[in-house]
Amino acid sequence: MKDQLPLIMNNRAGMIQELKKAMELYSDLGFEYLPLKRANILNLISGGAVLDYKPDRGSPSQQVAEQTADYYSNKETALEELRNEIGDCHRCKLSTGRKNIVFGEGKADADIMFIGEGPGRDEDIQARPFVGDAGKLLTNLILKLGLQRQDVYIANIVKCRPPNNRNPEEDEISICGPFVERQIAIINPKVIVCLGKISAQTIIRSKITISKLRGNFHSYNDIPVMPTFHPAYLLRNPKDKWLTWEDMQKVLEKLK
Ligand code: SF4
Repeated sequence: MKDQLPLIMNNRAGMIQELKKAMELYSDLGFEYLPLKRANILNLISGGAVLDYKPDRGSPSQQVAEQTADYYSNKETALEELRNEIGDCHRCKLSTGRKNIVFGEGKADADIMFIGEGPGRDEDIQARPFVGDAGKLLTNLILKLGLQRQDVYIANIVKCRPPNNRNPEEDEISICGPFVERQIAIINPKVIVCLGKISAQTIIRSKITISKLRGNFHSYNDIPVMPTFHPAYLLRNPKDKWLTWEDMQKVLEKLK
């Protein structure tokens, strides 16, 4: 083992150098994190990967690329792993009043991802997003677009119901928001539709009102984002439904 030490150290230095290059490459490509399996990282940290590391097996950047491709080829598993990681979450104060965590649902490789702000009463009870009155309106909208609900993916910015359906607060959004960002990274939709002010302002990172944001495409990590009114707002203001319909026509156009 003593004789192996210089070799191990050289390999470790070479590997860290290659890994650094790979991280820089992925950072340039816009990745904010790499979906490496925990076991790989632990193996690397513990030195296990160093003993296994053979330069002729391909550089770590190639291995990372292969792992990433594998990972995204099984998006359902990746979503399940993320749900498991969230567990019985108590990371923010919304955990105290919720009945269920509402993770999100739909097609793991959907072209369209709808993102609302947070679960309401019905969603909290059923542990499913957009199943109350506002959810029925959203489902009708999806059907009118010629799609089924199971053709799209639906999630929220925060996964637990805010008390009395108040808006999620900044600390809650900053703690829970990374989960929806990881859902976006896994699903990698062709278009994101943000439902309402909180969703749009969080995803686009803007303070502009939804009335001004809606109707035009914005961008999140190079994914086109269409903000539109929240279905709950449309229930209260049905005269504005045609504006959301117009927004969705633009989304369909973008998908062609
Ligand atoms: S809202 Fe998100 S961060 Fe807060 S407890 Fe629920 S799952 Fe956890």
